[in-house]
Amino acid sequence: MILFNPKTADFDHLDPASRAIMKKTIDYFETRGKKQLKSDYHERVWYDDFLDFIRENQIFSTLLTPAKYRRGNKEARWDTRRICDFNEILGFYNLAHWYTWQVSILGLGPIWMGSNEKIKEKTARLLEEGHIFAFGLSEKTHGADLYSSDMSLTPLGDGKYVADGGKYYIGNANKAGIVSTFGKNTETDEYVFFAADPEHENYDLVQNVVDWEGYVAEYGLSGYPITDEDIMSTGRAAWDSALNTINVGKFNLGWAAIGICTHAFYEGLNHAAGRNLYGKWVTDFPHIRQMFVDAYTRLTAMKLFSQRAADYFRSASREDRRYLLYNPMVKMKVPTQGEEVINLIWDVIAARGFEKDVYFEMAAVDIRALPKLEGTVHVNMALIIKFMANYFFNPGQFPEIGKRDDAACDEFLFDQGETRGLGKIQFHDPALAYDSVDLPNINIFKEQIKVLKEMLISATPDKEQAKNMDFLLNLGELFTLVAYGQLIIEKFNMEKLEADLLEQIFDFMIRDFSKFALTLYSKPDTSEVQMGFCMDMIKKPVMDKDRFDRIWEKQVISLKDSYEMNP
Ligand SMILES: Cc1cc2nc3c(=O)[nH]c(=O)nc-3n(C[C@H](O)[C@H](O)[C@H](O)COP(=O)(O)OP(=O)(O)OC[C@H]3O[C@@H](n4cnc5c(N)ncnc54)[C@H](O)[C@@H]3O)c2cc1C
Repeated sequence: MILFNPKTADFDHLDPASRAIMKKTIDYFETRGKKQLKSDYHERVWYDDFLDFIRENQIFSTLLTPAKYRRGNKEARWDTRRICDFNEILGFYNLAHWYTWQVSILGLGPIWMGSNEKIKEKTARLLEEGHIFAFGLSEKTHGADLYSSDMSLTPLGDGKYVADGGKYYIGNANKAGIVSTFGKNTETDEYVFFAADPEHENYDLVQNVVDWEGYVAEYGLSGYPITDEDIMSTGRAAWDSALNTINVGKFNLGWAAIGICTHAFYEGLNHAAGRNLYGKWVTDFPHIRQMFVDAYTRLTAMKLFSQRAADYFRSASREDRRYLLYNPMVKMKVPTQGEEVINLIWDVIAARGFEKDVYFEMAAVDIRALPKLEGTVHVNMALIIKFMANYFFNPGQFPEIGKRDDAACDEFLFDQGETRGLGKIQFHDPALAYDSVDLPNINIFKEQIKVLKEMLISATPDKEQAKNMDFLLNLGELFTLVAYGQLIIEKFNMEKLEADLLEQIFDFMIRDFSKFALTLYSKPDTSEVQMGFCMDMIKKPVMDKDRFDRIWEKQVISLKDSYEMNP
């Protein structure tokens, strides 16, 4: 069973204390039930009771305090495996609840990565007291352009400063114990991260910029007093901790998407399988089966990829920075696949998806947020394109990374080092995975990869194309599919999964590759030679009706009525 099901999940890959956290959280949502979930969603009720539950059970404190800073709670550590599980559960029930956890993670990033030990000790205490945290990076007029940050910190001498400026789109900044705020020193022009307190009289909570259960704040600081004790990092370290924090936070977006899609999938399947039209069950229509099989295989692929990416993330080091390719993919590929899953289910359940009492109504809106947070899809694609040459043509040697379900504290996440030198990062040869299986659809996909590589060698994008983001984004989609498939195969081998499932996954992978090849063909800048390669990349998966039927019977329709949220 690959998909999460709250009614049967045993979390037996976790230690007993972590397992208890996951089960209690499921109980919290199931006890409140769907009616309350939807009513709070419609009334935009701030989730005080959830935060009480978190405090009473010491959940953020246990999951988000690195072992080095724990205060008596021997279960506290930063363990990405269980953080993924918690993300999936929160996404499954409500993205607004996930969001308060997500921005707490972001707010904690610059603190745990900084050099101010006193703030770290205070933070461990605040976590125990049940506080949430906030990450004040974005500004209203600057979007992704962090270089232009206007928040200023003016030195007054004797380790004293005054902060002035505004921040926009900052989750939890209404209530956070610490709002980690990014700005610039007006004298040295250096970047700086400092702590702000929403309770301070010089902190102006302007508004919630969204109409939602969560609070996404605009806040202003005017003449806000800061001392050295409030500063987490300055200069290059502050800049790096902004980007390294996002590297950590990014990972959660894919897992939230997996949670959302899983709940929507159960709901959609139960509805369609119980609906009779013209004397036939809706799930007997061939196109409906195709949509459900596609939704299911896309969703399982999202999860298998993200699980494997977690192994690399947890095993990362200064020498092994492969996670810098896989994390942005968990951020942008997985949530955009989530959008596809929701589209497919919505086409099946049609009008039902609009109704006020279904989870799907929330899923349809919330899934759209994930590709846009922690940098847009474009920003992340622009980042990973830097890896393409080394990925295909200059592989490195690495020891085999196994499954990382161990109860370790992922210390490296807070010591990732400088964020430059991306073009030098090497990856293990994708052929190791692709050549490890001999299956019809994998073999077709390998042919597609071969043509892509030939195009990159003999019709290498020229200088103008290398500057044209519209062209590169599409090329990046093809590259992303190759790395996506690679980690899915690795996971397939590790878990000894059924060949049927892998083949059905590569059925959509081949179709997606063909679609992106056609889009690249149609771009204004694509040369005649490149267009020829694009045509050669367009392929059709092997049709195997028996395999399709087996997936439908054994893995898809068998999930009917296996989960329904408590009323
Ligand atoms: C609900 C919500 C919650 C949020 N929470 C927080 C938070 O807690 N803390 C926080 O700091 N921020 C937060 N944000 C801000 C979020 O991270 C930004 O929305 C995101 O960084 C994108 O910025 P933007 O929307 O202003 O787009 P812009 O930066 O204005 O981008 C405009 C367009 O240009 C493209 N673009 C920009 N730069 C590049 C590039 N280098 N390469 C290619 N294309 C590019 C973008 O893809 C986009 O299509 C939140 C946003 C939302 C909507």
